[in-house]
Amino acid sequence: MRKITTVADAKKEIAKLKNPNCAEDDVFFQAMEEVLLSIIPLFKSDEVYMKSAKNAIIKRLITPDRVIKFQVAWLDDNNEVQVNTGYRIQFNNALGPYKGGLRFHPSVNEGILKFLGFEQILKNALTGLPIGGGKGGSDFDPKGKSDFEIMKFCTAFMQELHKYIGPRIDVPAGDIGVGGREIGYLFGTYKRITSSFEGVLTGKPQFFGGSLMRPEATGYGVVYFTQKMLELEFKEDLKDKICTVSGAGNVAIHVIEKLIHIGAIPVTATDSKGTIYDSRGIDVELLKRLKLEERVSLEEYTKIHISAKYIPVSEYPEDAHAVWDIPCYGAFPCATQNELSVADAKNLIKNKTTIVAEGANMPSTPDAIHAMIKSKICLAPAKAANAGGVAVSGFEMSQNASMEKWTFAEVDRKLKETMAEICENVASTAKEYNLDGNYVAGANIAGFKRVADAMIAEGI
Ligand code: NDP
Repeated sequence: MRKITTVADAKKEIAKLKNPNCAEDDVFFQAMEEVLLSIIPLFKSDEVYMKSAKNAIIKRLITPDRVIKFQVAWLDDNNEVQVNTGYRIQFNNALGPYKGGLRFHPSVNEGILKFLGFEQILKNALTGLPIGGGKGGSDFDPKGKSDFEIMKFCTAFMQELHKYIGPRIDVPAGDIGVGGREIGYLFGTYKRITSSFEGVLTGKPQFFGGSLMRPEATGYGVVYFTQKMLELEFKEDLKDKICTVSGAGNVAIHVIEKLIHIGAIPVTATDSKGTIYDSRGIDVELLKRLKLEERVSLEEYTKIHISAKYIPVSEYPEDAHAVWDIPCYGAFPCATQNELSVADAKNLIKNKTTIVAEGANMPSTPDAIHAMIKSKICLAPAKAANAGGVAVSGFEMSQNASMEKWTFAEVDRKLKETMAEICENVASTAKEYNLDGNYVAGANIAGFKRVADAMIAEGI
């Protein structure tokens, strides 16, 4: 790989790496392109990284250390054998054991997990904790499965995965489709196979090693980051501000909950079928009951709150989403990748949105990012804004290793401090490279520097 000092250089290198016959890798290249294009100022100005062509840092960073792919055969409730594919991408362990969630969703493939694993390397670096980056999961669809089927799938998945993980090797956690219940079944299987009760997974239920506040951590962290960013940029806060949120899972629910705690007014939630708009503010307890306990469609919300509006996905143009056309001060995409298109960005700009804080991983398309930055919307990028989840996972690893149990207030205080530190680091890094206010570039440069420094120091 040649020296990269211009956008054209970076684009040329990415084009060389792309396999045009592998559409699965599109999201991975999207993530890589965003990072490579925004770290060019680093190569231009910094002697150590100018030599990165010699160290092949970029090439080593974008190539996973290991891609593990395996068969998961399990027995459904009709006694029929079902077969899924399981993956673990061990991407980079320069800073510590591989760390990153497991996603169970029918859309999962190697490309999606490579994108998530790559993002995870820089996100974990931003936390300042000694953790590397990885990601895993399966194309298994938990929707409509009985509790027993979920358990049997998790057991079969861990029967293979356990060979590759360990508290000092690779410590998976949850992601889409994997919450406390799934982590419990995965942990139980690991423990039975290895006869070892150890901190091999984070996001465990609290009564056997889980950290208090892990379920809340990603969502609360997104709001703490947003508060800090608003303070740094405008000396403003979120009190009494209308906010829109997408998603109705772990991250979205806890963003909504924390927004309510601090006096903001979150008015939306979405799932894969539609959007709820409740102008009086979302009833978060009802949302939790519908999505975390009963696991039903969001449409049920309007049976209790009849003044709330339900907008099915089919009622909106394909390239735009109802949730981003509702006027708001702050927008929080917390569902999935590429859920905020350039058409959505234009609606946010039209409605004079001040801040967009990404709770999901890579929720905005490259065109949407470009449009938002150009029109001076404050954009809090996912790898910084949603790092609270992995930060508290890191705290869970510390508690497991030292046999300690921290209180909720202690974890919350540490999370708040961590998010403020990440925000300040990202803001000052952007400033250092004359990109004042560009948190996307600041996060990519700050994360890259920490990993690259470790890789150079560790040699090959
Ligand atoms: P959950 O499975 O708890 O919830 C995901 C939510 O998003 C659900 O409401 C789901 O709708 C919706 N959703 C999923 N896919 C789509 C889609 N293709 N179109 C529309 N809606 C969709 O996942 P999490 O809340 O844990 O994760 C959400 C995002 O946050 C992901 O990008 C994840 O990688 C990221 N993240 C999660 C962390 C965590 O700690 N959990 C940490 C850092 C990032 P439905 O109910 O209909 O399925």
